This record gives sequence, C-alpha cells and structure tokens, in this order.
Amino acid sequence: MRRIYLDHAATTPTRPEVVKAMLPYFTDAFGNASSIYAYGREARGAVEEARTKVAELIGARSEEIIFTSGGTEADNHALKGVAYANERKGNHIITTSIEHNAVLEVCKFLERRGFRLTRLPVDKYGLVAPDDVKRAITGKTILISVMHANNQVGTIEPVEEIGKIARGAGVYFHTDAVQTLGHIPVNVDKLKVDLLAISAHKLYGPKGVGALYVRKGTRLVSLMHGGEQEKRRRAGTENVPAIVGLGKAVELAGQEMGKEAERLAYLRDKLIKGLVEKIDHIRLNGHPTRRLPNNVNVSVDFVEGESMLLNLDLEGICASTGSACSSASLEPSHVLLALGLPPEQAHGSLRFTLGRENSEEDMERVLEVLPGIVAKLRAMSPLLKTQK
Ligand code: PLP
Repeated sequence: MRRIYLDHAATTPTRPEVVKAMLPYFTDAFGNASSIYAYGREARGAVEEARTKVAELIGARSEEIIFTSGGTEADNHALKGVAYANERKGNHIITTSIEHNAVLEVCKFLERRGFRLTRLPVDKYGLVAPDDVKRAITGKTILISVMHANNQVGTIEPVEEIGKIARGAGVYFHTDAVQTLGHIPVNVDKLKVDLLAISAHKLYGPKGVGALYVRKGTRLVSLMHGGEQEKRRRAGTENVPAIVGLGKAVELAGQEMGKEAERLAYLRDKLIKGLVEKIDHIRLNGHPTRRLPNNVNVSVDFVEGESMLLNLDLEGICASTGSACSSASLEPSHVLLALGLPPEQAHGSLRFTLGRENSEEDMERVLEVLPGIVAKLRAMSPLLKTQK
C-alpha cells in the first residue's frame, strides 16, 4: 500500500541532498572541529559555513548563532539562560498558554525555583493579543517568550508587534521558530527578537540538531559547561555532520520556500474545503488565514481523534491528533483547550501537516477515505448517542 505522510510538523524526511552533504563528515572529513591540523580545519570550515547559512536565512550575523541538539535545547537555553543571567534585574517571565512543552515545561521548572510566570491566554483562533503582553510587563519582567507559529493549529502569532513592545520596554524577547523556518519568512530584525529557536528535522534536515539565535549583547548563561566550543556558550564536541545537514537544509529552504509555501497553501485549502464539504459537524481549528501554509487542524464531533488516526493508518495515511509529544497521552491538547474548545471537541481533533512529497492526489485520497471512517466511527459512537 502507498503510504501518505501528512505529519510534517512532527518531523520531515531528511532530503537526499542533505544526506549527501553530511556523508563525508562521518568518514573522510571526520575531524574534530577544534583540532588545528588539516582534518580539524576541514571540519571547522564546514561548521562555520553552516553557521553562515543559518545566519543568512534569518538575517543574523554568524557569531549570533549557537548550534544546539535541536529545538528543545534551543528553547531551554533561551529561557534558562536569560533567567539565570538576569535574575538580579528581575524574576518575571511572560509567555503564552499555547507554547510547545519545550517552553512550557521550562517555565514550570523556573517557577519552582522562584521565578514568576505570566501565561497569557489566546483568542478562539489561538492568537495572543499584543496589548495583553504590554499590560503584563512589570518592572521585574526580564523575558517574553511567544512562539512564531503554533505547532498544533498553525496560527501565526503577531510576533513583530510583540517585538516592538518588548523592545520599547527593554525586555528580552524570545520566539520559538521551529515550525516557521522554511515555511514563512523569518527575519530577526523584522521580528525584533533577541533569541530565536530553530530545529533541523522540521525542515528536511537531520534530527538532533538545531540552533539558537542570540542577539549580540544579550546576557545569557550556558547550559553546558566543559570545553570552549561555540565561543564557550555551549560546551561539547560539535556534531559536524548534523550541523552540515542543518546548513544544507536551511540553504535549500531559502531557495525554495516561496514557491513551495504557495503550493502547500493551495493543497491545504483544498483539503480544508473538501473536509468541510464532505463531513458534517466538523470545524477548522486555528486561524482561517494567519496560518502556516502546511497546517490543517480540524475537530470532528462525536468521534475520538485516536480512532480516526488508527483507521487512517490502516489506509496508509499518517496524521496526528495533537503534537507528536502528546500523542501518546490521553490528555486533550493544552492548545485546543486554550482556544476554548470543550474537552470532547479537543479529543476529536485531527492534524494534517503537509510537505514536499505531498500532491493533490494525496489530498484526494484523504477526502476519499476520511468521510467513510467518520461515518463508521459515528455509527458506533456512544458520544453521538448521548447527543441524540
Ligand atoms: N518547538 C516547537 C514549536 C516544536 O514543534 C518542536 C517539536 O515538535 C520543538 C520545539 C522541539 O524541537 P526538537 O524536536 O528539535 O527538540
């Protein structure tokens, strides 16, 4: 059976061009980037070339890029790094109720250690109000963290407006751009951010590598102590092949992003329209227009997301009910609850995130099989019976 992968927000296949770029750094060019002889210089050159590519795509300077083990580490480094470097100045951090756990769990950790957290609500589309951010700032606020776009519902946040407010108040501003880089333009000056998290495996690069942008002058402590790598900001021998892979993935994304986003948005809209036409009691989650070009998230009444997922899997279609991290749990998505969905609608959610390999035919296939799956599940559903 032909498999149709529609879970690109969870991870993406590594592009063959990326694998090809990485391969020599496992074998012929295996050097430690800190060694001064030829092997080392070769590795160092590759790491710095990748750094330049990442910096270029986001409008940063290469010395403002720290390579990390992925988005989670980049978020951890931004939040803990700023919190502990600026605790004399204040202990208040502002974030939102819809962040990824890589931010939310760090906030909980910091809260247990004496920091004060404000978690801003969102509207029914998942949008944070810049005015709420403004009102939440106090003399003790040291950091604002608002994601660029949400990984579950695809809503693109007003980061630029929030950046202006943060800058005006002299507060550091972090954004998690893990889901946006490679899909929509990301420019650190335009967004007015001081810290920005990136992950390679969401943009056809390898897993286990990412980057944190840190604006020059930002006070930040390190998470990792040891060697002097990354200008003493992140100790540990560089994962040269992975960093090269991130650089190549970013380079390709920069070349292809505009056209590909247009193509994906067309497929996304076709899928949304078809689902709404073919299935009753279904609604789109997230913002209708301020949304990632590849994200479709719907709630289907009277059925469980997990049941739809398993039935889609039997048809070779891979989707998700929430974020990859929470899909093993039975808790309804914190994001959908924050949008105001009742728990039963949050439980009946399905997320399709499209990518490079998807075609119009894939959308047609989903539209062909999902209505039947929903009808079958509803026929057995105790949820439907109690409604009647
Ligand atoms: N932030 C967001 C918005 C994400 O979607 C993810 C991954 O799901 C992460 C952070 C974590 O990134 P990584 O898997 O590279 O640790």
